[in-house]
Formats: sequence, structure tokens, C-alpha cells
Amino acid sequence: MPPSRMAPYSRTVFPSPRDGRVVGTVARTRAASPVPAARVDSSAGPGSGEGRAPARDPGTPEEVPAASGDAVPDELTDRYGRTVRDLRLSITDRCNLRCTYCMPAAGLEWLPAPGLLTGAEIARLARVAVERLGVERIRLTGGEPLMRRDLEAIVAAVAGLRTRRGVKPDIGLTTNGLGLDRRADGLRRAGLDRVNVSIDTLDPAEYARVTRRDRLDGVLRGAAGAQEAGLTPVKINAVVMPGALGERAPRLLGECLRRGWILRFIEHMPLGPRESWRAEEVVGAERVLEALDSAGFELRARGRPDRRPAAVWDVAAGTDRDGFHPAGTVGIIASVTAPFCADCDRTRLTADGRLMTCLFSARETDLRGPMRAGASDDELIRIWAEATWRKPLAHGTDTPGRAADGADHGDGFVRPARTMSAIGG
Ligand code: SAM
Ligand code: SF4
Repeated sequence: MPPSRMAPYSRTVFPSPRDGRVVGTVARTRAASPVPAARVDSSAGPGSGEGRAPARDPGTPEEVPAASGDAVPDELTDRYGRTVRDLRLSITDRCNLRCTYCMPAAGLEWLPAPGLLTGAEIARLARVAVERLGVERIRLTGGEPLMRRDLEAIVAAVAGLRTRRGVKPDIGLTTNGLGLDRRADGLRRAGLDRVNVSIDTLDPAEYARVTRRDRLDGVLRGAAGAQEAGLTPVKINAVVMPGALGERAPRLLGECLRRGWILRFIEHMPLGPRESWRAEEVVGAERVLEALDSAGFELRARGRPDRRPAAVWDVAAGTDRDGFHPAGTVGIIASVTAPFCADCDRTRLTADGRLMTCLFSARETDLRGPMRAGASDDELIRIWAEATWRKPLAHGTDTPGRAADGADHGDGFVRPARTMSAIGG
């Protein structure tokens, strides 16, 4: 890089490998811990009764502190002192794409329709989370959330809630963008704040190869429609794949800067079909930065603002192979090479109403069953709080670097029973 381009932007751009890691995390003592009410363990395996095996997380101590009196928890806090503020709601497991890193070519056996949470059930759980448990941000995801016709109604129900601070929860949508241009206005009017659109490459043939569908034009229309409707800032999620990175990554960044979209690269996690992921093929943050640097982008590290998952770099205005690009930012979510578990304030609900406290949880906790059996809000809260208390320390395990299910995966990752589309990314 010529010296003139070095200032004021430096090339010391890598996040600390310990940034957000859990290595030094100390478990809270019992006395210092919040006390969710003790209750019979309601955990069940994914889709139990639907042909999927229950799974226990043997690395997680079972002990849950006893409740003081009949107190109902008012926060979701775990043994390591992390408090949930962010709820990821998967509203469907279906999808109209078949991204290789997420789903098999033939798709999956979809959850039967009666098993999916209804709009009213989703709204109820969102209300409990926001009004009783201190959740401030809700992200609707899937599968492909636009495949639900009642998405606008779900957004409107969530938008009618008020957080402890008396404001509307922040509502985001993660989508592949297909058909978003036609629904963006309605979603905005319903109360949606922002969207993340997944676009891994701007090369139509490569896009068709990765998603197994030739739909790049429609996706770009969707992202542009969201921007016009004011669902901003539009963020673009790009899973980083090996091969042609030096071409793909700079092209994506230049185009996003020109269009005013915020690009975030995501390291490929072992959450798709088993054969689709190999540790040695993961393209880490470092290689993405090298590719951008080699293409002439001037980057300045900002770290992880607000301790959010993405490490952020400022990008100086400049010129790339497609012409001038304005200044902006780029993010990298280094879930594999620099996980941020210590700062994790998320919890997840699958489309069939199961809690997953971590993307890599081996344990799921059923909320749909108790809800349909007539559980009160207080009872749901106790189940939710108890499951949260047992949230694993890191990526599905309480022993970083070792799989919680005891199986030797050879890469330190425990695989959840579901793939990403069924969990909700
Ligand atoms: N269908 C929507 C979409 O693609 O944006 C929402 C669901 S998708 C599961 C949510 C996000 O997870 C997407 O940005 C997708 O790229 C990402 N994702 C899926 N599988 C992944 C994997 N194995 N590793 C990293 N990210 C993945
Ligand atoms: Fe569908 Fe999203 Fe999975 Fe791609 S990443 S297959 S769009 S759910």
C-alpha cells in the first residue's frame, strides 16, 4: 500500500483474538446470582414427539438456584452474569432458497403447519419478553420470514409493545430479500425498523451456485426496495466462502458503499448440512481484511462498538475497479475465529416455540407445549428464566474448545440438532 494511503488509516485492523472471548469468564457465585424460581425441568429435544431425538447438555450443571418465595423473575440472566436484551424470533423454517451452507439441496422436512407458533402465540411471547423480561430488541428471522403472510401483523403486534424504558422495541428482519420490494412499505408502516438482507456475492452465476436458485436480481430489488421504504440502514450479510475471495469481497464492499448499504461479512459456522463445513476451509476475518486491503480499501479498526457481534472498520472514500466509492464502514462477525460469547445478550425461539439460549445449544426448552396447555405468563417466565440460567458458557458448551455432547467433532464445535434455517439465524 502506498504510504499516502496509510494515513490516517492504519493497517492494524484485526480484532483482538480474545475480543469477547469467554476464556476468563468467572461463574457467578450463588449468592450473587439472580434467582429464577426453581421448577421441574421442562427441557425437551428438538421436535420431541416429531421424530427428533431429545438431547441433554451434559456439560451444563443442572443446579438452578431456589426461588425466594414466589418471586417471578423480571430478567433473563445466566450463571455467568449475562442478561438477555435481544430476542431472535424464527417465524418459519421454510425457505425459497437452498443456500449450501444452510440447507441440503432437497430442502428439509418442514415442520407441520400446526406445529408452528401462530401469530398470536408469537405476539404473546414477544410481549412477555419485552414487557416482563427486559428485552429491548427483536429480530424476526427464519427460514425465510417473508414466506409468512402474517409477517406484517406480527411486526405490528411487536411494534405495539413498550420496553421498560417506555419505547417501542427495536424491530429488525433478517431476510434473503426475495419479494421484499413489494412488502417493504407495508412492513415499514407496521413498525419494522431495519432489515438485514443476505447477499454473499454479486456474481449472478456464483449466487445461483451458492443459493441453488438464479435469483440475484430479485434479491437486489428487494434490498433497494427496503432502502426506498426507509428500512435503514440496510445491512447486507455475506457468509464468507473460500475461492475467489479477492474478487468477491472487494466487489461487494465497493457496491455496498456506493448504495449506502452496510456490509457485514460472517464467518461460515458449522450450522448447515454436516458435509458443508470443514474447519480448515473457514475463511477467517484476517483473510477478508487482506482481500480488502489488497484491493486498495483503506481501513481503520473501530473494534466492536457497543460490544455487538460485528467488529467494525471505517473505510475511507476512494476508488475501486468500479469507480468512486464514498466512505463508510464494513463489519466482520468472526463467530468462529474470535467468538463473542462473553458479550452475548441473545436468546432464540424456534418457529415451533422452543427456546435455544445459544445457536449451538444441544438443549432446547419447549414453550409452545406449556403455552398450549394453558400456562400463565408467570409460568412461561419461570420456564424461560430457568432455561436461560443454564445458558452455556460458549457456543453450546461450558468448556470452551470442547464439544458439550462429548462427541469428538475434531474442531471444538458441538453441532445443534437443527440446521441454521430451522434455528433462526
Ligand atoms: N433466510 C434469511 C436470510 O437468509 O437472511 C434469514 C434466515 S438465515 C438462517 C439468517 C442468516 O444466517 C443469513 O444471513 C445467512 O447467511 C446466515 N447463515 C446461514 N447459515 C450459516 C452458516 N452456516 N454460517 C454462517 N451464517 C449462516
Ligand atoms: Fe434460506 Fe436464509 Fe438458509 Fe439461505 S440462509 S437457505 S435464504 S434460510
